[in-house]
Amino acid sequence: MPLIAKVATSVSKTAAALSRAAGRGDGSVIGGWIGLKIDPDLLAHLASGRAVALVSGTNGKTTTTRLTAAAVGVLGRVATNSFGANMPTGHTSALAKEGHTPFAVLEVDEHYLAQVIDATRPRVVALLNLSRDQLDRAKEVAMMAQLWKTALAGHPEIKVVANADDPMVVWAAGNSPQTTWFSAGQRWHDDSFVCPESGHPIERADGDWWCTGCPLRRPRPHWAVEDEGVIDPRGDWHLVKLQLPGKVNIGNAATALAVAGEFGVRPIEALPRLARVASIAGRYAQVDRDGRNIRLLLAKNPASWLEAFDMADQAPTLLSINARDPDGLDTSWLYDVDFSPLRDRPVLITGDRAYDLAVRLQVNQVPFRHVKTFDEALRSVPPGRLEVIANYTAFQDIRAELDRVN
Ligand SMILES: [Zn+2]
Repeated sequence: MPLIAKVATSVSKTAAALSRAAGRGDGSVIGGWIGLKIDPDLLAHLASGRAVALVSGTNGKTTTTRLTAAAVGVLGRVATNSFGANMPTGHTSALAKEGHTPFAVLEVDEHYLAQVIDATRPRVVALLNLSRDQLDRAKEVAMMAQLWKTALAGHPEIKVVANADDPMVVWAAGNSPQTTWFSAGQRWHDDSFVCPESGHPIERADGDWWCTGCPLRRPRPHWAVEDEGVIDPRGDWHLVKLQLPGKVNIGNAATALAVAGEFGVRPIEALPRLARVASIAGRYAQVDRDGRNIRLLLAKNPASWLEAFDMADQAPTLLSINARDPDGLDTSWLYDVDFSPLRDRPVLITGDRAYDLAVRLQVNQVPFRHVKTFDEALRSVPPGRLEVIANYTAFQDIRAELDRVN
């Protein structure tokens, strides 16, 4: 590395360590920011010489990155941004902190994919899905798909691992000469009713989809979820045992296996490592308190709410909604979510914007009870499982509350 990059790396690590020592989080954003101020090419310098995989998409990228890093770990040490700091500052910090590793698996915010591809020259890019997110900030889904398409067009050397079930992803990845398709299912269809190529309606039947006006259609997947397992490109089925709940996470595991496969990792080697992943930055974490087994699920946009309903057991469920800056200030997305799957279980609501949620649930005919605090929620449910589904800062608040008491 050039001297300036060495200095920048060292300063970046120190800044991150100081920030951690001061109790200001994990320090990855500030550390990366300072490093990039000293050497604007620091990310490229740090990525050089490593085999890099990038993971991007609206939902599931933190979990899939964690599972992919576990799978690629079969081959050697892997640097990864495991706290979900998914912009170039976070990537810079993650690579600086780990020192030289042969591999890196990085979660990338979908808006930054082009920039991070240019800086890190990845061997593999995984594209998970695109759906509406934070209405006051995120780009339209079709614009996002166009950005990805343009980003990949300049890099035919990249092996793309892409979701065959999402028409937006298929269109974005479609011109790449080396694409491996996986099928992890797509529960949310509301952002892909219309073909991004021709504007015609997209039809769906039995897991298949096709455009009614142009040749865009679902490619045949090389990797696919079937029952509780994954079929590999040779047609062999592998049972996937995870500590993470739901069919969604079997899909994330399939994606991780597909990405690791591009590095030469076989499913039989990777699967025991996937089974050891228990929780990711508090997500899916289970905490026992007062005879209640509390499980935390993060849901941040309409598609991820549907997935959370799928993961949650049929048990009392606390929903918590905030609308602070990291959540997006606009709660009108609540009307994009169908809450009716919660009708036949006890539902409690809380959070800064509980009343927005209350109106939505009433319209959706879901009975609920409002609680002011997490403690009150705990006292209102019988011993046993309590599922908690919360959006970003609401999730952090409840995590902090549980940490404080435990
Ligand atoms: Zn079309």
